[in-house]
Amino acid sequence: MRVEYKNLQFIAVRGDIANQPDVDAVVNAANAELKIGGGVAGAIHTAAGPQLYDECKPLAPIKPGEAVITAAYDLPNDYVIHCLGPVYGKDRPENIFLSNCYKNALQLAEENQIKSIAFPSISTGAFGFPFKKATKIAFDTILEEVDELKHLQKIKFVLHSEQDLNIYQQYLKDLS
Ligand code: ADP
Repeated sequence: MRVEYKNLQFIAVRGDIANQPDVDAVVNAANAELKIGGGVAGAIHTAAGPQLYDECKPLAPIKPGEAVITAAYDLPNDYVIHCLGPVYGKDRPENIFLSNCYKNALQLAEENQIKSIAFPSISTGAFGFPFKKATKIAFDTILEEVDELKHLQKIKFVLHSEQDLNIYQQYLKDLS
């Protein structure tokens, strides 16, 4: 599903964040050590190859809400933006930390003149954030930032299940 909103294209698809050749940057739902891990981080590091961790190592550890940017190596993108989401029920205030992930990722994208970016749903896997609550935070934060975006033209959301995609599509419908 595709929606135009304030000169930006918003897209939501079901798929693998490590296989999104139509975007300049992909966002990693990273761990603090910026290591391979499971879920999104596993898929990204496996597809990018070991050079990604070589670049990540000196940038770690990062704190909840923080984001760092690296090259993408064997991924079909130019950059990976690594965000550490909060562990639900542990890293408080979790809403602020999650919001900061999206805010900081967009800021790094702008600083690097990135035109298109793909986000997974940060913190909603191993870190246990309730999916609907996390989706609202993702949209609220991104929409707050939209007017500040000068380079970004496309924001893509890559969801793992049909059920998760439906929730994102509902938000996109409300934008259109
Ligand atoms: P976190 O540790 O931040 O919770 P996870 O990677 O465990 O991150 O999960 C974040 C979300 O990404 C979950 O909703 C999960 O279903 C989804 N997910 C897992 N693997 C992929 C993938 N390869 N591409 C896109 N989304 C994925």
